[in-house]
Amino acid sequence: MWSLHAWRRKRILARHPVDSAQWHAVMQQLPILDGLDDVEQQRLRERAVLFLQHKHLSALPGVELTDYTRLLLAVQAELPLLHLADLNWYQGFHEIVLYPDDFVSPQRHRDASGVVHEWDAAHSGEAWLQGPVILAWPGVQASGQWDGNNLVIHELAHKLDMLNGDANGLPPLHGNMHVEEWSKAMQNAFDHMNAELDANPQAKTAIDAYAAENPAEFFAVTSEYFFSAPDLLAQAFPAVYAQLSLFYRQDPLARLQQLQANNLAYPRKTEDRPLATNG
Ligand code: ZN
Repeated sequence: MWSLHAWRRKRILARHPVDSAQWHAVMQQLPILDGLDDVEQQRLRERAVLFLQHKHLSALPGVELTDYTRLLLAVQAELPLLHLADLNWYQGFHEIVLYPDDFVSPQRHRDASGVVHEWDAAHSGEAWLQGPVILAWPGVQASGQWDGNNLVIHELAHKLDMLNGDANGLPPLHGNMHVEEWSKAMQNAFDHMNAELDANPQAKTAIDAYAAENPAEFFAVTSEYFFSAPDLLAQAFPAVYAQLSLFYRQDPLARLQQLQANNLAYPRKTEDRPLATNG
């Protein structure tokens, strides 16, 4: 059957080829793609091209965008969707705004007693409901390592979370998943972290303490770990890893372990990897 969608897609891909040298450079720069097979790489390459056709990247002064850096961003945006059906998972927003540095944005929170608190906080990214995604360029440039940080994946996880309303840590689950199992895994880990931080605000938690902020941040931060430090996440919260593996339909831990088995020098210990804190 002739399909307008497939035809358009083919035309875009034909008009915007990614040459092999450029793809090779992307693979070199983003270790979190190591171990993807040829079929996965080809799919990622095509979806990154389509992503850049569908989303507008607005760079503020101080951000130098090139075809190559646009591709680096798009590839990381599409990594979480690699094994999800080709649906419009990033629907509802069209623009990604790139700031030259971290930015201050006004925060507002109504507490349980109804008092509204307002303050300014420094951020490296934001995802607005029905609005753009904002990313600080240094955070984008630092993403792609096996270090538990990935600003691109973090903010786009918020967008997946928002597919069914406000960001609340519960994205739309697949038919073979169960909300109770998801909630139980996430809540237990979230409560565990919060208990640890209540007892000692300086506690060195197994994953970035920012995850304990609220359920939406928990999902975004654990998504970052899932793709960039799956061993740390699986060790700290195996049930969370299992739920994310069902959601993203990927197993980055198996991929990382295979890389480590094939190459003893491959990053393996936490100490080898600088774990920065999140914004
Ligand atoms: Zn966040």
